[in-house]
Amino acid sequence: MAEALCVRYLRDYVAIPSVNPMGRTDVDPSIVGERRYAEHVRQQLGAMGLDAELIGNPERPTVIAEARPAGARETVLVESHLDTVPVDGMEIEPFRPRIEQGRLYGRGACDTKGGMAALVDALGRVLRNGTLRRNVIVAGAADEELGSEGARALLAHLSDRRPDWVIATEPTDLRAVRAHKGVAHARIGARGLACHSSTPRKGRNAVVAIGHAILSLDRLASRLSERTDPALGPATLSVGVVHGGAAANIVPEYAWVLLDRRLLPGEGVEQVRGELEEALRESGAAGLSIERCRVEKGPLDTPESHRSVQACQQALAVVGLPTETATAGFGTDAGVFQEAEIAGVVIGPGSVEQAHSAVEWVEVGQVEAMADVFRQLLEAPA
Ligand SMILES: [Zn+2]
Repeated sequence: MAEALCVRYLRDYVAIPSVNPMGRTDVDPSIVGERRYAEHVRQQLGAMGLDAELIGNPERPTVIAEARPAGARETVLVESHLDTVPVDGMEIEPFRPRIEQGRLYGRGACDTKGGMAALVDALGRVLRNGTLRRNVIVAGAADEELGSEGARALLAHLSDRRPDWVIATEPTDLRAVRAHKGVAHARIGARGLACHSSTPRKGRNAVVAIGHAILSLDRLASRLSERTDPALGPATLSVGVVHGGAAANIVPEYAWVLLDRRLLPGEGVEQVRGELEEALRESGAAGLSIERCRVEKGPLDTPESHRSVQACQQALAVVGLPTETATAGFGTDAGVFQEAEIAGVVIGPGSVEQAHSAVEWVEVGQVEAMADVFRQLLEAPA
């Protein structure tokens, strides 16, 4: 049997490195950045007759194209992020796609190039057949794995031409995900006073101050664990990185921690900041401050009755897949769009268990099924 078009596309995509350096400086520059993959997708969309363009950061671009059939009223944005996580510790060749026993292996195969391959295949098919019934904005977004700069660039670019709803394609095992937690990151610093360690009373120890802060943050984390959403579970706080000090014989003048806060629907940056400020006050230590606090991705909380959920369920039903909605444990760009008051759904081939893993793969059959789901979505009259 001939290889499905979406599988051929997926091989091509996996072979194009598009690693998000995630703020690191030690990642091989030859595999960093979304530019080559964005350009590849731009050319594919251009070959379908669409006016595709690169927007946002020229070094880390986002690709966008629109198709507007006559008579369609509803506009859907379908977004697939272009970046992958780095490849350290991988146990397979990350950029040499290989199919074995129905699985395609390689970095990004699951998260989330499989979704893009299904989308581009489906769009090409309906454009060739003249069966597109919805206005569709197709986007490959940069930087989802870190700060969602691509999703923000899309929102700025679309400005007042906002879509009615959005699909973010991510590995959900083909389930329509309508809710997930949000993600906020914060950096807390402690300013002390350096002096020789033989006279520590002359200084003010920043590492000790940050230690008090960590204990207080941990008490905040315990309180948050009691704040629970019935579908998503508890709000969380985790201290992920701590740095401070230069040498054993110097009283440290500066220390900092990075923390990750998972948000429930309704929680936002003001609340997170307020709780952190209170925790720092409670620690009793001097010189502490919140240096940075940002919601990277807002929570997703789309009602079951929303158009986006129902449209996905209809398409899943036609293809013969389960239509019950699900929730996800990870944040996505759909949360960034919800912050901008555009509701949506997350759906795509592959399981999150293989995402970011040392042996990343996606089931080829799921990519093909997702292409069918996208086709149904694009062909449904709206
Ligand atoms: Zn992803």
